[in-house]
Amino acid sequence: MAVVDPLIELRGVNKHYGALHVLQDVDLTVGRGEVVVVIGPSGSGKSTLCRAMNRLERVESGEIVVDGQPLPDEGKALARLRAEVGMVFQSFNLFAHKTVLANVSLAQIKVRKRKKEEADRRSRELLDRVGLAAHAEKYPAQLSGGQQQRVAIARALAMDPKALLFDEPTSALDPEMINEVLEVMRQLAREGMTMVVVTHEMGFARSAANRVVFMADGRIVEDRTPEEFFTSPRSERAKDFLSKIL
Ligand code: ADP
Ligand code: MG
Repeated sequence: MAVVDPLIELRGVNKHYGALHVLQDVDLTVGRGEVVVVIGPSGSGKSTLCRAMNRLERVESGEIVVDGQPLPDEGKALARLRAEVGMVFQSFNLFAHKTVLANVSLAQIKVRKRKKEEADRRSRELLDRVGLAAHAEKYPAQLSGGQQQRVAIARALAMDPKALLFDEPTSALDPEMINEVLEVMRQLAREGMTMVVVTHEMGFARSAANRVVFMADGRIVEDRTPEEFFTSPRSERAKDFLSKIL
């Protein structure tokens, strides 16, 4: 779909794992302030696509451009890029032996070179924003899964990212905790954060996405508004997928 102000652009991106062609000529543009929800069957390449966007995976061909800059290969430029395109994983990845506050402050100090006091102040603001101000001194194991995922979101926000990638952020959560995480994500969307969200939460896709990208077998098969996608999917693959999950 046509995008007015591109922030993330992938053009002709290809990647294999051995004989498996996991990203096949992928073209995708994510506009500034847009929420793009990526859906598709397991193994279709959604995680690989996300990981390629902040260079956790190398691609073999094609271009990936973030805010006008080609994705750097390594070094400081790559660290900066990773800070600008934050990622939230299914598995939270918090440091178990550090407090919630320290988890949110760590990369601010190491990557953003903030002083501890400044980082902690920012961390407390963000913990407040995700509803966890009272839990700053606790350790991850003392929190529920939903709370831990909100800490991971605060940690990603602490880098002042230009965009956030979410790879199935609620898939590891008990059902009653899914909404508290989606609500934080909806709030970010309303505030204009650029977001790419891989999820099976179709309610979120319908209500929060500007566009739905449907992937199958390493290809982007559909890229449309949620309204169009959910009411009249064009491809057999999407029809089949939707008939199984809706
Ligand atoms: P999705 O997130 O849509 O489930 P993935 O991007 O994780 O899909 O994986 C796409 C395909 O690539 C799958 O068949 C998966 O088994 C394979 N794959 C993913 N990561 C690796 C890897 N590191 N090495 C080999 N194959 C992989
Ligand atoms: Mg995945």
